[in-house]
Amino acid sequence: MRQARRIERVPPYHFAQIDRKKAAALARGVDVINLGIGDPDRPSPPWVVEEVCRQARDPANHRYPDYDGLPSFREAVAAYYERRFGVSLDPAREVLTLIGSKEGLAHLVWALVDPGDVALVPDPAYPVYRTHTLLAGGTPYSLPLRLERGFLPDLAAVPVQVARRAKVLFLNYPNNPTGAVADREFLARAVDFCRRHDLVLAYDNAYAEMTFDGYTAPSILELPGAREVAVEFYSLSKPFNMTGWRIAACVGNAEVIRALGVIKTNTDSGQWNAVQRAGIAALGERAEAFIAGMREVYRRRRDVMVEGLRRAGWEVPLPRATFYLWARVPEEQDAGAFAERLLEEAGVVVTPGPGFGEHGAGFVRLALTVEEVRLAEAARRIARVLGR
Ligand SMILES: *Cc1c(COP(=O)(O)O)cnc(C)c1O
Repeated sequence: MRQARRIERVPPYHFAQIDRKKAAALARGVDVINLGIGDPDRPSPPWVVEEVCRQARDPANHRYPDYDGLPSFREAVAAYYERRFGVSLDPAREVLTLIGSKEGLAHLVWALVDPGDVALVPDPAYPVYRTHTLLAGGTPYSLPLRLERGFLPDLAAVPVQVARRAKVLFLNYPNNPTGAVADREFLARAVDFCRRHDLVLAYDNAYAEMTFDGYTAPSILELPGAREVAVEFYSLSKPFNMTGWRIAACVGNAEVIRALGVIKTNTDSGQWNAVQRAGIAALGERAEAFIAGMREVYRRRRDVMVEGLRRAGWEVPLPRATFYLWARVPEEQDAGAFAERLLEEAGVVVTPGPGFGEHGAGFVRLALTVEEVRLAEAARRIARVLGR
């Protein structure tokens, strides 16, 4: 087989070693606590499950969906944006149904980036932005996210000639993997930067609802002038425990949405109407109460884990958003070696930071996707490894 050269551009898979060790530990019968993946462990809302079952029985839903998504799903997204963010959207031109935001983010690159173009990509980050830029023949330009700057990129440090070749800036706040949030002043500067350099601002708002301690995350579209340059990715995956369903939306700049639609129309045939109708049920009047309940679940888990790790002498920060702890590896160890040690000696899986980019060096990510008792157990085992 002679595969395409672009396959070789895909960065090496950083988690292979830890995946092998995890499989070996499970085979040995170790009681593994997996904090390695950002996938909600609780079930989807029961009324959403009921709705998809009902819709599955309707033969009208057995046919191809509309290319741009069901008008009623796009209207439900627009209605949700109005009441959640105070942002008005035209469902016909400014909302597009996605088969998960990963699909949309990947295809956005193909709609914007020609070979030789630059994409401005945070580091560490969700890997899709970088990988698809490479697949499309573009050049990712890394924006380091440093602790000293609150894990916000320094846009003023981007050289003018790089900004000139760039087509898109990716941002994701609340942030995976760092748990950081962005203030409005930073977001306003980002919008201004994109307007000045004629860039598309691709704002990944996957964790918009997963916030604590009175913090509420904005939509990028709340910022003045944002609609001229920005599209936002809003996924039902995390707020409604629906990662398996593959349902999300891209909202914002109509021209960008049209370009993304051209790629999608020629690639997929849209998300199943039954899933879109279940998505309408998720975004309906019970959304806020469900989200409030999940927020409380994650806040308590966060508090249990942070307290447990601090008692173990590991000074991890208390994030205001997301279900991740982004923690500096104690005693200047290598992140990969430390993650392997936690697995071998404590049966706890964490993700080494370099898997999210070279600036993730020295950090590990812990996903709070197991129940409190298991987190408390994980913290006790980690304490033993750290000699407390
Ligand atoms: C989980 C996650 C998503 C959501 O992806 P879906 O494809 O909608 O499930 C998007 N971006 C980031 C940063 C994530 O962590």
